[in-house]
Amino acid sequence: MKVLIATEKPFAAAATNGIKNIFDKAGYTTVFLEKYTDKQQLLDAVKDADALIIRSDKVTREVLNAAPHLKVVVRAGAGYDNVDLNTSTAKGITVMNTPGQNSNAVAELAIGMMIFMARNQFTPGTGSEIKGKKLGIHAYGNVGRIVGRYGKALGMEVYAYDPFISDPTVYEKDGVVPVSSVEELYSVSNYVSVHIPANEQTRRSLNKALLERLPQGASIINTARKEVVDEEQLCELLAERADLKYATDILPDNYAVLQEKFGKRVFSTPKKMGAETAEANINAGLAAANQIVAFFQTGDRRFQVNK
Ligand code: NAD
Repeated sequence: MKVLIATEKPFAAAATNGIKNIFDKAGYTTVFLEKYTDKQQLLDAVKDADALIIRSDKVTREVLNAAPHLKVVVRAGAGYDNVDLNTSTAKGITVMNTPGQNSNAVAELAIGMMIFMARNQFTPGTGSEIKGKKLGIHAYGNVGRIVGRYGKALGMEVYAYDPFISDPTVYEKDGVVPVSSVEELYSVSNYVSVHIPANEQTRRSLNKALLERLPQGASIINTARKEVVDEEQLCELLAERADLKYATDILPDNYAVLQEKFGKRVFSTPKKMGAETAEANINAGLAAANQIVAFFQTGDRRFQVNK
């Protein structure tokens, strides 16, 4: 059994050692393709792989066509919009993610960004405190729940919107107020923390009509995906509303323009770093390896996302 770990942005060393140990114990061969710069390197490496672990690497139809033995792909992380699910399903390849394994890392970054924006990106001038402010959690999944918990610990009033979690007790036990529409969430929140996945339904859904509902002085904190934002309309709105701020962990296509026009009201990390902690690397990497062993040894498909 051959497992390829293809990571353009490699795991931390502790994670790669742990992954290799898990596969050594199972008697599998492990091949690492790290920091590759050309798609062809991935196409060559995947040729004889039975299993594939990736991070933000793109598994396109071309990659899947180049991998005749591939049976399982595990995305070490939460979002799986970088994998062609339809082609995988058509080829009988199981695709999984590792839900929850990097959530704390992303949640800590979201809170850090909130404070960073409230304090003028740590430059001189009068900032504001987040205590007592209203925090809207857009999608109450693994990351959103932790952000909500940390927000409460910091004295914020926390609201959440997630149409797929209708059981009110999920919110009640966390002391979070569920709202019944996304429009209501944006109308009440001084800070919105965005945690929706990028898919057909959500793409460009953070448009001007939604964002202009935000109260005076609000900030949008996006640690989800840039695809969920209509960046042109965001730019228009920031020009009309000098009170609004936008911080993101996913470099916008038009970041140079945004920076030039809006200065410290916008911020982006240079490269997605929500999950870039040693802890999250180890959690997600080892989970991915264990899921592959369980898949081959017991047929475990618990985390399959292309059902
Ligand atoms: P998750 O799957 O645990 O939660 C996603 C939540 O979104 C679910 O509760 C689901 O019900 C909800 N949802 C789906 N469609 C929605 C919609 N239209 N409106 C409102 N809610 C909706 O995922 P997670 O671990 O919380 O991660 C959330 C997203 O953050 C991922 O999809 C990924 O794109 C992104 N992410 C980014 C980083 C990073 O490094 N910045 C790391 C991990 C995850």
